[in-house]
Amino acid sequence: MPTVMVVEDEYKLRELVRSYLEREGIVVFSTASGAEAISFARHSSVDLVVLDLGLPDVPGEEVARELRSFSDVPIVMLTAKSEERDRIAGLEVGADDYVTKPFSPRELVLRVQAILRRGRSAPDESSVASYGEGLLCIDEERHRIDVRGELVELTPTEWGILVALAGAPGRVYSRYELINRVRGYEFEGYERTVDSHVKNLRRKVELDPAAPQVIQTVLGGGYRLGLRRDR
Ligand code: CA
Repeated sequence: MPTVMVVEDEYKLRELVRSYLEREGIVVFSTASGAEAISFARHSSVDLVVLDLGLPDVPGEEVARELRSFSDVPIVMLTAKSEERDRIAGLEVGADDYVTKPFSPRELVLRVQAILRRGRSAPDESSVASYGEGLLCIDEERHRIDVRGELVELTPTEWGILVALAGAPGRVYSRYELINRVRGYEFEGYERTVDSHVKNLRRKVELDPAAPQVIQTVLGGGYRLGLRRDR
């Protein structure tokens, strides 16, 4: 059963989210404290974190940054902040999605389930696609990516972007297209968030993120995979 940690200091909201998630067969750990959340994630395995941005002890952004320093666990931010800038800040520290308060618990559950589905690995036979003479290998069935022979850990959003680009090497994908492919549902269109995820992705897959070989920027267009598919 998937395990989700809910970090929210408003008791009523925390319990509401818990009951909705539990109804879907998800095991829920909850806390009102950012510090406790970090410590819990260090010592236990959680499949996803629902994280309030406005926490009384450690700000949500800080919690996300801390989590990202040792884990690729998917993070869904809860934010009361309506400023786009603040939401983007959350995504820049590595969150995979966010929901703005007030939100419908049902919508949150759907987003959580979508991310959990993306992250699940299938135990079937492998179907490895390789690019750039073996520089990049993507095993969609096993949900595994190797770059220059090394296993690379990606967040679900990073995985989605890379797999989308690799679907048609050389083809230019606009930011809007990438958002829709990765999320699979109507998104408000914060195209700049794609740039943040690409930046994080490049840190993991490029030898020199300033001169990217794998994920290339096309000015005024978007991004494309800079490698050919191997035969
Ligand atoms: Ca709060």
